Amino acid sequence: MKLLPYWQDTATPFAGADAGPLGGKVDAVVIGGGFTGLSAALALAKTGASVVLLEAGRVATGASGRNGGHVNNGTAHDFAGLAASLGLDHARRLYHAFDAAVDTVERIVAEEAIDCSFRRCGKIKLAAKPQHFDKLAASFDLLQREADPDTRLIPREGVRAEVGSDIYYGGLVYEKSAQMHMGRFGAGLATAAARAGARIFEDTPVTGLTRLQGRAHRVETPRGTIEAAQVLVATGPSQKGPFGFFRRRIVAVGSFIVATEPLSKDQLHSIMPGRRNATTSRIIGHYYRLSPDDRLIWGGRARFAMSNPTSDAKSGRILEAGLQQAFPQLGKPRLDYCWGGLVDMTADRLPRAGEHEGLLYAMGYSGHGAQMSVHMGQNMAAVMGGRAEANPLRDLPWPVVPGHFGPAWFLPLVGAYFGIKDRFQ
Ligand SMILES: Cc1cc2nc3c(=O)[nH]c(=O)nc-3n(C[C@H](O)[C@H](O)[C@H](O)COP(=O)(O)OP(=O)(O)OC[C@H]3O[C@@H](n4cnc5c(N)ncnc54)[C@H](O)[C@@H]3O)c2cc1C
Repeated sequence: MKLLPYWQDTATPFAGADAGPLGGKVDAVVIGGGFTGLSAALALAKTGASVVLLEAGRVATGASGRNGGHVNNGTAHDFAGLAASLGLDHARRLYHAFDAAVDTVERIVAEEAIDCSFRRCGKIKLAAKPQHFDKLAASFDLLQREADPDTRLIPREGVRAEVGSDIYYGGLVYEKSAQMHMGRFGAGLATAAARAGARIFEDTPVTGLTRLQGRAHRVETPRGTIEAAQVLVATGPSQKGPFGFFRRRIVAVGSFIVATEPLSKDQLHSIMPGRRNATTSRIIGHYYRLSPDDRLIWGGRARFAMSNPTSDAKSGRILEAGLQQAFPQLGKPRLDYCWGGLVDMTADRLPRAGEHEGLLYAMGYSGHGAQMSVHMGQNMAAVMGGRAEANPLRDLPWPVVPGHFGPAWFLPLVGAYFGIKDRFQ
């Protein structure tokens, strides 16, 4: 079993990084080469701005190259719950921003001719307990009437037409959701940004930031210093660099994934005849889909731990047990890949984007960001071009997470708490 992401092992890496010296002045520096940063760099370069993107490692190898491959529409929240906490109008606006995000990914894939198996496959959210189905059903009427007519409630007896398992009590289908090969998309997005004129520096961590005036900053890296009229921070759950403001508001939580060997046509049909994305209703639940080459890509929170090779392997064993429980008809399929990544969680699991002391930012997608990161990159480029209203997240306040200053000491406690909640709710 390879301890690396399937997406990265089966994509040709981006080969257009800038090897030249770093210095001088540019219109925009983008910090972070995940989907947010790459998408922003692409949009900024297309306006004719001079753009430099600084990436600490290799582009699209953070969360953007380590995720589950789902490009789901709508918010991950229960819609009725979101409407109760934010008001119906605001909840609807956020829901539709995620719908628009899937459209943005689809548009960029088409415009830039990125070969990444993008497909509008739909998603099914599966109820792991009878009471979870009741909750889905209670929210469904409001969701369908007010935000998403392309949703469908599936009673328990209808589940097997979608997912070949007896452990679920019904589900909710979201027809607009999509999926793609994340490694090929990431490399294609970086290539498109470079083609449009953005200069992309890999292995170039930002180590210092000094505000000059307004939005202008001096940006320091081991490779040199550069000045920018505007800076966008797109560093996800970054544990490094001068980003204390963001680290106090984002909790980095590990999430883990395994990919099986390629399955036979009969096996595929027996487990996922609908070939949709699937997520389950537990807090520490699962998310899964099939790959373009017929593997089952099975993810879950597994453990509340950071991601590293030992931790990923342990989490892989926990995930394997969950997979076998859902699909006993597969026996014990060989696992070819196991990997983990860090999710940038906010306290309310809603992303944030805006401006803090002259620095622009977009992050905090909380595990539901493959689509929104691409969308927010484009939107923040528009904000940098003077269109503040292009930011759909501009009305969300962002208080600190109390007691949190960096690595989250409280994760095991949170994990234990959610484990108990999953058992009794
Ligand atoms: C295991 C896992 C599964 C997921 N599954 C899904 C899914 O199926 N569907 C979905 O919608 N979302 C999913 N997500 C979330 C989704 O992948 C992210 O929301 C999205 O990729 C965020 O993109 P980003 O560009 O903001 O951040 P990242 O992709 O994390 O990019 C941030 C980049 O910033 C760089 N950086 C950090 N610090 C510095 C610095 N000081 N200087 C320079 N560069 C720096 C990092 O190296 C990194 O490359 C998942 C996430 C994980 C971890």
